[in-house]
Amino acid sequence: MSEATIRRSIDEQTTRRTKGRAVRRAFKFRAYPTRPQEGRAVRLLRDHCDLYNAALQERRDAWRMRKVSVGYGDQSAQLREIREADPDGQGRHSFTAQQQTLRRLDATFRAFFKRVKATEKDKQRRAKRQANKDGKATKQARKVGYPRFKPYQRFDQVIFVAGDGARWNPADGGRWAHATFQAVGQLKVNQHRPVQGRVKTLQLKREYRRWYVIVVTEAEAEPLPPSGRTVGVDVGVARFLTTSDGEVIANPRFLDAAQARIAQLQRRTERARLGSGNRKRLRRVLAKQWRKVRNQRRDFHHKTARALVDTYDVLALEGLNLDNLTASASGSVEESGRNVAQKAGLNRSILDAGWGQFTRILVAKAESAGRRVVRVNPSYTSLDCHACGTRCSRPRQHTIVCPNCGEQDADLNGARNIATRAGLGSGQALVA
Ligand SMILES: [Zn+2]
Repeated sequence: MSEATIRRSIDEQTTRRTKGRAVRRAFKFRAYPTRPQEGRAVRLLRDHCDLYNAALQERRDAWRMRKVSVGYGDQSAQLREIREADPDGQGRHSFTAQQQTLRRLDATFRAFFKRVKATEKDKQRRAKRQANKDGKATKQARKVGYPRFKPYQRFDQVIFVAGDGARWNPADGGRWAHATFQAVGQLKVNQHRPVQGRVKTLQLKREYRRWYVIVVTEAEAEPLPPSGRTVGVDVGVARFLTTSDGEVIANPRFLDAAQARIAQLQRRTERARLGSGNRKRLRRVLAKQWRKVRNQRRDFHHKTARALVDTYDVLALEGLNLDNLTASASGSVEESGRNVAQKAGLNRSILDAGWGQFTRILVAKAESAGRRVVRVNPSYTSLDCHACGTRCSRPRQHTIVCPNCGEQDADLNGARNIATRAGLGSGQALVA
């Protein structure tokens, strides 16, 4: 295929995919409930947590005792009865919000079954390899955990359908916006940026001691004028990303600083006496640090993604972690940093949490701008020479050496491979 043909087919696909396509976006704002409202919000979370756990119990029992699997439809059909039986508890809450909670449980189960399937496949693969290698020890396949009951303090959000038990009143020039939730009341919300699109769902969320409202909207994509440029993007640990144009974006310095501070706070927290006021205080400070680094990182991701989407029509990325992408479709906002920070993995957790989020943001921005993101097979993108395809050696982290073409920057070579693979279409040039 000639370069021109590829370009034309990409353009056609871009317009076809963009026309009339709805794009979902999530806007997260801090909410300031009054004391009584906060009490009712806590009760809302508890009641939904009870519903979630009861529904989970039903699925467990049905499976254990009768080997029957109970689905979302079965459970949703029982809601009316449950509400009638408990007018002062479950009966007070929004019916559609309760359906959303049951859907969340359903999603958890579907993810669980998917993991079970993947593990089965993995086991078979390992068994095969084991047989081939004649008894050479391979690592145990990981165990898949059955969905668990949620304790009250971990059940931290309820999703409402806008216009049905929840309403959004934007700030409209004034300082405060308001979000109204059934059984909670009208909450003051600090709307620090405009909300674009039709409001579909409203989530009331607790994070530590703070409350947030997440407004999820839908809007038609607004395509940017074509720039005529395409690019391959390589993400990494040492550098945040490298493009096939040779542009390098380093990891922002605030990550290093944050890492040092968080590690130190963790050490101090561990040393503090269990249950002491000092330990509680340190945990609050630690939570605050995490919140700060998450915000800075998100901001950095938004800016970086914005610049890429503005510049290029087609962006090629390695196809890692597709699961994270599907999560963004329902408008969920990144969740991390609660328990991930074990000392050894601290650096990784700060950086790793970044890529998935960055990809989600990039894909979302590309969608609403009518740009295209292509995912390519990631195998050996850094080790195969982009020019001649020969496997190279890697004497240093940043350098590869091709027997035909000589020394090259490893990340740049990776980015160029990614661009090439995207241009050739799926299936080609994937044989590694
Ligand atoms: Zn070469």
